[in-house]
Amino acid sequence: MSAKRVAELTAQLRAWDRAYYLADQPVVDDATYDAALRELRDLEAADPSLVRPDSPTQRIGGGVASGFDEVRHLLPMLSLANARDDDELVAWDQRLQKLLAEAGFDGEPDFVVEPKIDGLALSLVYRDGLLERAVTRGDGETGEDVTANVRTIRAVPLSIDDPAPPPLIEVRGEVYLPIEAFRRLNEERLDQGLPVYMNPRNTAAGSLRQQDPAVTAERPLSFWAYALGVHEGIAFESHHAALRWLGERGFPVNPRIAVMRGIEAVREACHAIERDREALGYDIDGAVVKVDALAQQAALGAVGRDPRWAIAYKFAPTTRTTKLLAIEINVGRTGALNPFAELEPVEVGGVVVRHATLHNEEDINRKDIRVGDTVIVQRAGDVIPQVIGPVLEDRTGKERPFTMPAECPACGEPVVKNEEDAKHFCVNAACPSRDVEGLRHFVSRSAMDIEGVGEKLAERLYELGLVRRPSDLYRLTPDDLLPLEGFQETSARNVVEAIRRSRERPFGNVLFGLGIPHVGLVTAQAIARAFGSMEALVAAGADEIAEVEGVGPVIAEAVAAWCADPERQAEIAALREAGVQLELAADERPLEDGPLTGMAIVVTGTLEGFTRDEAKAAIERLGGKSTDSVSKKTAYVVVGANPGSKVQKAEQAGVPILDEAGFRDLLEGRLA
Ligand code: NAD
Repeated sequence: MSAKRVAELTAQLRAWDRAYYLADQPVVDDATYDAALRELRDLEAADPSLVRPDSPTQRIGGGVASGFDEVRHLLPMLSLANARDDDELVAWDQRLQKLLAEAGFDGEPDFVVEPKIDGLALSLVYRDGLLERAVTRGDGETGEDVTANVRTIRAVPLSIDDPAPPPLIEVRGEVYLPIEAFRRLNEERLDQGLPVYMNPRNTAAGSLRQQDPAVTAERPLSFWAYALGVHEGIAFESHHAALRWLGERGFPVNPRIAVMRGIEAVREACHAIERDREALGYDIDGAVVKVDALAQQAALGAVGRDPRWAIAYKFAPTTRTTKLLAIEINVGRTGALNPFAELEPVEVGGVVVRHATLHNEEDINRKDIRVGDTVIVQRAGDVIPQVIGPVLEDRTGKERPFTMPAECPACGEPVVKNEEDAKHFCVNAACPSRDVEGLRHFVSRSAMDIEGVGEKLAERLYELGLVRRPSDLYRLTPDDLLPLEGFQETSARNVVEAIRRSRERPFGNVLFGLGIPHVGLVTAQAIARAFGSMEALVAAGADEIAEVEGVGPVIAEAVAAWCADPERQAEIAALREAGVQLELAADERPLEDGPLTGMAIVVTGTLEGFTRDEAKAAIERLGGKSTDSVSKKTAYVVVGANPGSKVQKAEQAGVPILDEAGFRDLLEGRLA
């Protein structure tokens, strides 16, 4: 009986591993995966004759994707056993103490508690202080050689900051994508009509495993070092001493890592990390507790794929399964029909989730999501919850596939599909749903950031006929608000004051708030910088708009068409009248006669001291133009680490090349 179940679980876990590690596309949630692995481990513990050498309990999940060289690790890279709650943490401590006493160690061990970063593990081998090779964990024995890609990650030192580095040292850590970078990346993809990425972990894994390092270089990946692997010519007594050594030599070591004694202190530290989870700026899925003394680690050893001296204290999962009750449609400010999932309420990462986004019809069908399915829901960081996919095994046959309605659910007018981004749109420019959504968007944080006017109030004001267009907001008086439920003298005055203050919002945010199709915040800011004022933008044609970085012909056409609409122009005039900023402020405006005026400058590769956007902004501020392609007209090509083919093009075209120091000289006027 058990043998059959062991075989079943083994086959199941293997299939899930392939989907998770090789395709970066999980097919079940983590809790289900962990439960199956635990069941298998328990069956094997009860009857060790059932343990096969290739059991998932003995192996690490990842593999080697085609296209990368396979490299054998100098020392295997292990996984971690889990503690699901405080009791399991305490039980682990008791087992440790017993084993340590048997091995002749007296007293309580010291522990190091660390955040468990949700990215992917990486091994960095430095020979004579220079980064020689970077390898993913893979199956723990062999991984993928991703050296060229890792060289583009700024947080990974290319050399060890030490006059006499050890001859060989292997640094291990986690590559991750900060949540803000993840959000921006998705915003840009939405702008471009591309499907959004699922979560920072999968995006980090996908970004690191790109065939072209230039693509990796565009992704703001980062790195935390958390362990030493093989090391020669240097010795440490404790894990924390090794981490300190790494920190002093230029490796990023997480500031939340702390040494302590006693499992009670460990428990509190784990809870404290969990409490601060949302504020960290990167995803974590638990805390890792490690025995500090390396001699004790050696004595404890490993069992299967998990070291005995460390444990992952798991936090509430960010993925759960629940029932998909219905697929509803919301008509957005651009008239786009956005399908979203109505879910049986489920707690994900400490928050009850009832709705999740579903992007578009094609995406729903590609993932084969049907109404009535059990689905995997994910909430990563504070990003909007998403439906990752259906749990196919739970299908009963009663589930219904989804099709977009032919008529707009808000106004009944026909719906058309835009082939460009696979979205459906309501053809009715006066669809009431559009106006409400437009208003909600206008008051939102990244747009006008009007405190006190949230989505609900915007909707109520619209329904009451008090506000139809954004410019109507600026005509509101406290007396208009007082009759509304929940308003008193002070709160009404505060809201009106907040609306008045929003007139100071920078032009880029205002432009974003206007809700031009395809124009996300990043694009809006780039357009604002390029044209300087609404007037100049309205006067420009699509061709001119398409020259702005990051704006393609499709977006340019959409912007030009929007600007040409007389109703929009009337609204712009009304906003101008209300005192809203429709041009760049003096300190945002590029210098008219700046040191770089008339110069086109191309930046390629990774710079140490600037992100791409910062470099662009610096060039534009001084009057220059930051462009993408090199031609004879290019004034300079600035070259960072791992540049692309643009360097050769610059050489062929005879364009002067600057390194980062030269670029700084140029910006600071030291370049004659
Ligand atoms: P793990 O994520 O539980 O733990 C080991 C990893 O933790 C290390 O390899 C390292 O990458 C990471 N880590 C982060 N911070 C660390 C620190 N400070 N010190 C040491 N290590 C640190 O193990 P795993 O084998 O990578 O993955 C198993 C996890 O993946 C499970 O939680 C499982 O639920 C999930 N999984 C899910 C599916 C699925 O289909 N849903 C499939 C496979 C795995």
